[in-house]
Amino acid sequence: MSSFKSIPGTFDILPEGHTSGGDAIAPSRAWQYVESTIRSVMALYGAEEIRTPILEPTELIARGIGQLTDIVSKEMFAFERGSTNYVLRPEVTAPVMRAYQQHHLSQKGGVQRLFYIGPCFRAERPQKGRYRQFHQFGLELIGSTDARADAETIACAVDVYKALGLTDFKVRINSVGDASSRPRYKEALIAFITPFADQLSEVSRQRLESNPMRILDTKIEKEKELLKGAPLLRDFLDEASRVHFDEVKAHLQSVGIPFEEDPFLVRGLDYYSQTAFEIESDDLGSQGSLAGGGRYDLLSTELGSKTVIPAVGFAAGMERLLMALEAAGKLNVEAARPEVFLVALGEAALDWAFHTARTLRSAGISTGYDLNGRSMKAQMREANRQNSRYVVIVGDDELAAGAAQVKDMDQSSQRTVDFDQLATQLKA
Ligand code: AMP
Repeated sequence: MSSFKSIPGTFDILPEGHTSGGDAIAPSRAWQYVESTIRSVMALYGAEEIRTPILEPTELIARGIGQLTDIVSKEMFAFERGSTNYVLRPEVTAPVMRAYQQHHLSQKGGVQRLFYIGPCFRAERPQKGRYRQFHQFGLELIGSTDARADAETIACAVDVYKALGLTDFKVRINSVGDASSRPRYKEALIAFITPFADQLSEVSRQRLESNPMRILDTKIEKEKELLKGAPLLRDFLDEASRVHFDEVKAHLQSVGIPFEEDPFLVRGLDYYSQTAFEIESDDLGSQGSLAGGGRYDLLSTELGSKTVIPAVGFAAGMERLLMALEAAGKLNVEAARPEVFLVALGEAALDWAFHTARTLRSAGISTGYDLNGRSMKAQMREANRQNSRYVVIVGDDELAAGAAQVKDMDQSSQRTVDFDQLATQLKA
């Protein structure tokens, strides 16, 4: 056994499911199934895939997400090499916006729908459903200020969950206003909280200085109680933001997507303006957030664009989704079934199996055989474990006759097939 282990908060995805740090990790085929469903739903939305590097300039993330956020202030895997500062991307929205600007994707005109699936990295304390390397999928809809774009983004996330058979989830939405409404709100919030600041947790007290809106995010019951009469952002929205928010809600209603308005919903990333939303699973307990997103019209200029590029998107956790599907009993993905297993008895038969496997595979027939010259019993056991449809048995007698014994495992029948007929007969 190797003396090395994967780093806590990271995990291997294996052909079979396993547990890592107490968490169930789904088998790779379950990941593939979920990923291919995501791809199909994205195709329905006309979204095309974008793949950006895992490594990005640290400054991109710091500027995009905001210096005072938890991600940038404490959770980045960042390092320096030569004169360049690198970060393992903690999210994909800022990288997508970077790529959009770098490659002048706006020149295509109209709205672009870009989706991604891939790993992200955050130095958080590993716990159930919270990892240091995790995977996100998401959609970025770039180039429209229309409230339908916000509604469509939420609809797309909901459609992914529905396509996978998930039903126990809730959409919560809020408006975090625009750059002009937020400072006024922050002031009012600080004025409200300051008198009882000494009753807050250490973390919330720090946030009062750095990012007071995040205090609203607290999971501590006592703090929730204290915040009950807090001023609400919605009372500070400018007219345009209020209208936009009303439109988003109306559009969601008109397509029958249920949601709850949550005036305390703020997101951990600075780049959001107007719409913010979160999708929560009822089955996941404290790490219940499946996805989050919102409108981020100001990210483009933060990253150096001369003009505002309006955009809205969502980011969703793969691990949380797999956990929710497992909890809901929707993740029974069967292992692929090889069509043929060649049981070879003796050295000459093994050589025959090696060549025949190649012939059958080129004919599009998935084929397995044993490379270790094990006993007939061990090879049959392997064929059964793999649940092969056909087992082809060849020893010295069959080699001499130029014909193999073919067992149909479903029909429990057996017949003799000439070697040169194998591919055609097995295909039929
Ligand atoms: P965020 O970018 O923080 O809004 O995260 C979007 C989604 O990614 C969350 O709703 C989670 O499903 C997932 N997520 C975020 N951080 C982690 C993590 N450390 N481990 C696992 N999933 C995560």
